[in-house]
Amino acid sequence: MKKFAIMAMAGMSMMLGSCKDKEQTSQDDFKYEVDAFADLQILRYKVPGFESLNLQQKEMLYYLSQAATEGRDILFDQNGRYNLAIRRTLEAIYENFDGDKTNKEYKEFETYLKRVWFSNGIHHHYGEEKFLPGFSNEFFEKQVRALPADKVPVKEGQSIDDFLAMIEPIMFDPAVMPKKVNQESGVDLIVTSANNYYGEGVTQADVEAFYGKMKDPNDHTPISYGLNSRLVKENGIVSEKTWKVGGLYSPAIERIVNWLEKAKAVAENDAQVKVIEELISFYKTGDLKTYDQYAIAWVQDSLSRIDFVNGFTETYGDPLGMKASWESVVNFKDMKATKRTEMISSNAQWFEDHSPIDPRFRKEKVKGVTAKVITVAQLGGDCYPATPIGINLPNADWIRKDYGSKSVTIENIMDAYDKAAEHSGFNEEFVWSQAELDLLHNFGFQTDILHTDLHEILGHGSGQLLAGVSADAMKEHGSTIEETRADLFGLYYVADPKLIELGILSDADAYKAEYYKFMMNGLMTQLTRIEAGKNIEESHMRNRQLIAKWVFEKGKPDNVVEMKQRDGKTFVVINDYTKLRNLFGELLAEIQRIKSEGDYNAAKQIVEDYAVKVDQTLHNEIIARYQKLELKPYKGFINPVLEAITDGNGKITDIKVTYTENYTDQMMRYAKEFSSLPTYND
Ligand code: ZN
Repeated sequence: MKKFAIMAMAGMSMMLGSCKDKEQTSQDDFKYEVDAFADLQILRYKVPGFESLNLQQKEMLYYLSQAATEGRDILFDQNGRYNLAIRRTLEAIYENFDGDKTNKEYKEFETYLKRVWFSNGIHHHYGEEKFLPGFSNEFFEKQVRALPADKVPVKEGQSIDDFLAMIEPIMFDPAVMPKKVNQESGVDLIVTSANNYYGEGVTQADVEAFYGKMKDPNDHTPISYGLNSRLVKENGIVSEKTWKVGGLYSPAIERIVNWLEKAKAVAENDAQVKVIEELISFYKTGDLKTYDQYAIAWVQDSLSRIDFVNGFTETYGDPLGMKASWESVVNFKDMKATKRTEMISSNAQWFEDHSPIDPRFRKEKVKGVTAKVITVAQLGGDCYPATPIGINLPNADWIRKDYGSKSVTIENIMDAYDKAAEHSGFNEEFVWSQAELDLLHNFGFQTDILHTDLHEILGHGSGQLLAGVSADAMKEHGSTIEETRADLFGLYYVADPKLIELGILSDADAYKAEYYKFMMNGLMTQLTRIEAGKNIEESHMRNRQLIAKWVFEKGKPDNVVEMKQRDGKTFVVINDYTKLRNLFGELLAEIQRIKSEGDYNAAKQIVEDYAVKVDQTLHNEIIARYQKLELKPYKGFINPVLEAITDGNGKITDIKVTYTENYTDQMMRYAKEFSSLPTYND
């Protein structure tokens, strides 16, 4: 499973900001914003701590990074059978074009190429629908015909005319391959999805019959059938083409294996050697039992500093949820941040005992969960450029149950989102005054992450139900109440002096940043994600408004929080942070009571009163102000360049990290250095 920025964090709506086209630098001159086009913004991330690793660790990260990039073509081909042909044609045009580059059609061509790179194909990475070129067929044909003959990736025996007749409808006709993954009910999901996990002519009934036979309902360690193959129909016979050395995608997989062999030679310990050996064995045999052995070895290796994902992992791209897209995340543990989460986790009992709830609802023995915090050094395949901020693997339920799972938070990616958001103009538009801007600048990121930690590590695990109360007594309001409870736990404790005592926070006022951000988001700015005229449906959004509105209303007699007007615009102003904390505590006590007693009617009442309804006038105002900022809704990341420095004998003496490559250069370099697959993989 992956966690993306859009839904992930309480304050994340602030992080959805972007910087339009203006280029800015942060205080330390690191440039987070790289490029912007269509509905996308490209950022880069830093790899803090890389310099402090030893040479062996750096070398390992280097080999794993090479392995992470070698699989890129696999994903293009998985996403659609003409994607590599289209990308290579566009790249050839990009390199050979000698016309007017200020021309509108050429600009549209550039945008389309950048979008194809971003989506690893011709369908939107998030919406799944095909996006169309903004340039004409005529422009495209003219450019293709102007290319040197050997630069056009024709199929064997094809003329340029044949090639154009094949490729143009795929690119230009909205009715051809309109969706990558179709989830609509009532149609054949396989036939109507444009992905390349199933060959031409394969129907949903074929797939269900083929895999239905394999599945054994009594198997307690079920194999993930279909995970690493394309299902094809040839002469009426349905069979699998496995992605492995000697099978489909062999040229790319051979290279991945080659880099993994080098990584193995510099591995940190035996557990890590075993992980890599199992993975290599899986790539060589395609055997899914070996894949499970690899997943188990991977989840059991908790001590290594360096870690990675490399392979056929997530199944979001298959409407039937069986075929996995190729991806890679190369990372190392962030020791300092992991210490923070471990510190919170190991003090779980103290937080439980001091929680402002009725003692009957406290847990006698509570254990915090620990999520490792990591620093990403390289992203590949389905994690690039669209990047998760958290990962929880493996996906096989039985392995999770018997061996556990690894849950990781990717802090350097979250940091880059936050830094880029600072340049978006979002805070300047919605924040009341310089005092709050300063608070957010100084402590916003730190306390937002801390609030998320408290929510995830302690909040959900805290409290208990009274005997006889059912776990789903809250019915349809279950997740709103549960998220409200966890958020309040985090809000209450983010202001606690205990965090300073534990050395997690250094400034007694830091929490005010999270309080301001939370109230502004819950009372106003999260409405930017809802269409005008609609109410709030999503449970995280409901929980935030429930909390913000409740404390706003209850604090009115003391003027704790105000909505003020200036120049026809509405702002949130917090007048008394201490009283605000007490209100969060009061609400936590009430929400815990509702949950512990299973008081469904009270849950329904509080959700209806505070969480759902939207003030239409305010909503319209917020949407209008937000639109003026012209922010890009989606973001992705390019990689830093890891370069091996060698001595006269070719021995690696250091690995250098640089951050100067731009989006187009990186994509064109990958097309040259990491593109081993044929254009057509049948
Ligand atoms: Zn939660």
